[in-house]
Amino acid sequence: MNRTVTTKAYAKINLFLDVKEKRPDGYHNIESVMQQISLFDTITVLRSDAGNSKNISIECTDKSIPEDKRNIAYKCAEAFFEKFEIKNYDITIHIDKRIPSAAGLAGGSSDGAAVLTSLNILFDVNAGISELCETGAKIGADIPFCLIGGTCICSGIGDVIVPCDIPQTSYQILLVFPGIAVSTAAAYKLIDETEREERLCSAEDIISDLQNGRMPSKLYNSFEKVTIPENPIIDEIKRIMQKFGGNSLMSGSGPTVFGLFRDEESLNKAKIDLLAKGFRPYVCVPNTK
Ligand code: ATP
Repeated sequence: MNRTVTTKAYAKINLFLDVKEKRPDGYHNIESVMQQISLFDTITVLRSDAGNSKNISIECTDKSIPEDKRNIAYKCAEAFFEKFEIKNYDITIHIDKRIPSAAGLAGGSSDGAAVLTSLNILFDVNAGISELCETGAKIGADIPFCLIGGTCICSGIGDVIVPCDIPQTSYQILLVFPGIAVSTAAAYKLIDETEREERLCSAEDIISDLQNGRMPSKLYNSFEKVTIPENPIIDEIKRIMQKFGGNSLMSGSGPTVFGLFRDEESLNKAKIDLLAKGFRPYVCVPNTK
């Protein structure tokens, strides 16, 4: 008997991202305030009768994303079957892609997290969130956050997660993906070669603003200092958002820029200006728990 589970795989932004030292294993320690947002991919997993087979098929509406073993959703499915010792399976994962790819929005990680959640239901495994996080962390450092969602302070390589209790927030988000490619590896290398700059705010400042029902007044991302000089379009988008009262920052290793707006009127003005300049803004809201 075939069964399907459909879930939403939400994107994230980093309200704060401090890249710290490089570790002996080659990864970097970070401290970040991750915020899940309402922009999502839709993931549908179909389980068919497996017999003696092992089959994972991927279909993705965005044909620039691999539909094979390289897909993060595929890797998560494989890790799930290994971890829970499921020997026979036949699944099809359909990804309806809306989150821009390679954008600093964790689109792939979120698809992977949604697959873990769906397989947990479809194969009646009943694993707890910590077991799913452990499985996901082997594939990507952002996957545990994508499983937990909401607003979290993340440290280690991003996999040590403290969820924060945030009341329903009153700000809206404008997102612009400038459509350029930035290399995450090259950005980390530049950070290592550059002197550490002074942080003008901390993760705790941002959480305190949010817990008091305020839109964060300061934001920070270590990647901006090394990525913006080579990609001035990022600064151009930031300035347009700021002109209309937005508090703007690049997300993750970029190149997506987001702006936080207190009211819909100023957000709409920024949106119209961005559209007139040829950008494609997305409007979304933070997902609080
Ligand atoms: P992060 O913010 O976690 O660094 P990102 O938003 O920069 O992630 P992703 O969209 O997750 O980047 O994907 C980056 C790469 O992973 C792309 O090169 C893409 O081809 C590949 N990839 C594999 N599977 C997926 C997937 N399901 N969705 C998006 N990209 C995927």
